[in-house]
Amino acid sequence: MESCIFCKIANKESPADILHESRDVVIFKDIRPSAPVHYLVVSKKHIPSIKDVKHEDEALMGHLIHMAKEAAEKLNLPGYKLVFNVGREGGQVVDHIHLHILGGWQNGI
Ligand code: 5GP
Ligand code: ZN
Repeated sequence: MESCIFCKIANKESPADILHESRDVVIFKDIRPSAPVHYLVVSKKHIPSIKDVKHEDEALMGHLIHMAKEAAEKLNLPGYKLVFNVGREGGQVVDHIHLHILGGWQNGI
């Protein structure tokens, strides 16, 4: 997807503050954080949303969650939230699948 900002970041055509990367995902800082610590786990494959996940993407989705867990450990987060916004009505703005890692509060919110 040429016009997709997260594809551009994954392809290193646009800059981002990258924390970690694997063959299939890239993890970078959210540009407008809504928590003291806010990262995005982004699949390198362009899937618009959870609504578009297919059976063949099951392992990739598991990998996204596992990478989020490893990133949270690296960030020394004692607890955190993992969030998928799904569709406009679910607050999704960027149509490229991503898992939010939110944390860094004192008491959970
Ligand atoms: P959504 O609402 O689609 O689940 O979340 C999209 C997130 O991507 C938002 O938190 C927004 O701040 C972040 N974001 C949008 N554009 C960029 C960008 O160009 N770079 C980075 N690092 N984050 C972005
Ligand atoms: Zn994309």
